[in-house]
Amino acid sequence: MGEIFSSFQGEGPLLGRRQVFVRTAGCNLACAYCDSAKFRREVTFCDVIAPGLRRRAENPVSLAWTMEEVRALWGRGTHSVSITGGEPLCQPEFVEALARACSAEGMPVYLETNGFSHRRFSKMIPWIDIAAVDIKLPSAFSRGGSEELVENELASIEAASRRGVFTIAKVVVLASTPRAEIEGLVPRLAGLDAVVVLQPASGDGRPSPEKLTELFEAAAEVLSGVVVIPQAHKMMGIL
Ligand code: SF4
Repeated sequence: MGEIFSSFQGEGPLLGRRQVFVRTAGCNLACAYCDSAKFRREVTFCDVIAPGLRRRAENPVSLAWTMEEVRALWGRGTHSVSITGGEPLCQPEFVEALARACSAEGMPVYLETNGFSHRRFSKMIPWIDIAAVDIKLPSAFSRGGSEELVENELASIEAASRRGVFTIAKVVVLASTPRAEIEGLVPRLAGLDAVVVLQPASGDGRPSPEKLTELFEAAAEVLSGVVVIPQAHKMMGIL
C-alpha cells in the first residue's frame, strides 16, 4: 500500500467531491505522463496523511489496519472511498476485499484503474459504485501500449456500465495525440452509458487549446456527452 489520505477528487465529473483515497503501490504500465511515478513500484511504508496528521506503517499492511485508517479519515461530507494507484488491479485480492469491506460499511467505492485486466476488474464490480477507467492510447507510450490493453479497458467500461455502475471513461490527450486515434476510438464508446472525459495532459505534453479543440471535435462527431476536464488537484495544491 502506498498511502491513505483525505482530499478532494481532482479529476472527472466528480471533481471536488471529498474522498478518502487509498493508493495502492505497484503498476504494470509506464505511461509517459504518469504523475504517480513514486507508486509505480512497491514501497516500504504506507503513509496516512490528513490535515495535521502524518503517520506510517510498514508494508504489507493488513486489511483490518487499512479499514481502521479509512474509518478514521471518513468525515463530514465525505462522498466515497477512492481506490487508486499505482494500479489497483495489480493487487486484485486485497482490492476486492477492501471494496467489499467499504461497501459493507456503507462507504461508496470509487475505483480508478487502467483496466488492463477485464477479468480482474469484473470480479470487483459488485462492490464498486463508481468506476473511472482509463483508456491508454497506444500513442502515449514509447513502449507498453497495445491494442490488447485498449480492448481490456473497453471491456471493463462496458461491463461496469451494463451493471449500473456510474462509469467514467478517461482519455488523457497530449500534444502528440493523433486525431485519427480519437476517431478510431470513439465509435467503440458510442452507446455505452459512460461519461467520456478528455483530460489534457499537464506539463511538457500538454496539448495547445487548438489541439484540444480538434480532439474534442473529433470525439463530439460521434459522442454527444464528451467533456474536457483538466486535473484540478494540481491547481489546488492538494494530493
Ligand atoms: S497506469 Fe497510472 S500509475 Fe501506472 S504508469 Fe500509467 S499513469 Fe502511472
